[in-house]
Amino acid sequence: MDSNEEEGESDEEMEEDGADEASSASAAESASPPVGAIPITDCLFCLHHSRSLVKNVAHMTKVHSFFIPDIEYLVDLEGFIRYLGEKVGVGKICLWCNERGKSFYTTESVQAHMNDKCHCKLFTDGDAALEFADFYDFRYE
Ligand SMILES: [Zn+2]
Ligand SMILES: [Zn+2]
Repeated sequence: MDSNEEEGESDEEMEEDGADEASSASAAESASPPVGAIPITDCLFCLHHSRSLVKNVAHMTKVHSFFIPDIEYLVDLEGFIRYLGEKVGVGKICLWCNERGKSFYTTESVQAHMNDKCHCKLFTDGDAALEFADFYDFRYE
């Protein structure tokens, strides 16, 4: 009768990695961060170190007037801050100038630039916002 239907989708291979699915949240740890990346507990704009990601964001908000656009739609704060940490620490790119600005050779100089020019903010005009789309979940209702 239903002879066309394949019997039992064998997903044995899929199960192999499922041993520690309870701790899947820590999967991100296996990917070691690129050299120079600013840790999610360190300020993107100065040498301030916080004990937690949330405290770090609070520091950046208070001291550097940093703000996360559309934060109510942000679903991956950790990934978002980590991404920014790589952008500044590895790419040495000012968050506001993005790649339109001048390039920097050290993390310190890019941080000094962002502080000097009050560029402790994200450039998200128009298509620039798409860069961060992965961290957001916009539901159009
Ligand atoms: Zn700071
Ligand atoms: Zn800048």
